[in-house]
Amino acid sequence: MSKKPLKIGVLAMQGAFEEHIQILDSMGIETIEVRLKDQLADIDGLIIPGGESTTMGKMLNRYDLLEALREKGNSGFPMFGTCAGMIMMSKKVEDGLPGQPLLELMDITTIRNAFGRQIESFEADLDVSEIGERPFHGVFIRAPIIKCVNGTVDVLARFENNIVAVRQDNLLATSFHPEIAGDSRFHEYFVNIVEKWKEMHGKD
Ligand code: GLN
Repeated sequence: MSKKPLKIGVLAMQGAFEEHIQILDSMGIETIEVRLKDQLADIDGLIIPGGESTTMGKMLNRYDLLEALREKGNSGFPMFGTCAGMIMMSKKVEDGLPGQPLLELMDITTIRNAFGRQIESFEADLDVSEIGERPFHGVFIRAPIIKCVNGTVDVLARFENNIVAVRQDNLLATSFHPEIAGDSRFHEYFVNIVEKWKEMHGKD
């Protein structure tokens, strides 16, 4: 029996979801824009893009996706959050709006807009040994940082002592936008997590 190919969902409520789809397309990975709860049954992993975490949280509530995504993430389902997506995946946020909805999946505390208004956006080469020796070009756009990590969280990258990439089991998160770096190594790293998870849990 032939195996079903991997299918990765990209949450498409708002924000930079198209760029993730493009990079996965270029890697030959099948993708789907996720907007409805029913679509979650059909995917092997999910990317939560950058955008605006306060808006994304409201929309997830409105489309009844917040609880469904939380359950998925807590069950070991692979998820990759970038920038606002990382904020969504964190258990706690500083400088969020009061009552801002979060998925509360990773044992991390994020600080929104941590680089302040003056340095809204910048780029920096990062050492990320998990994905290879060559530095990864990080594009930071009104980026959060990770103030602290607990539990079984692995720190994958820092920028000037600030934690900017982490992994906890099958959950991956970056402060920066790997989808616009012209370098697919973070997406390959995630696809690898998804493949391993699918081998063990996927229905085929
Ligand atoms: N500052 C945004 C937020 O709080 C994140 C910015 C981004 O995703 N590029 O959600």
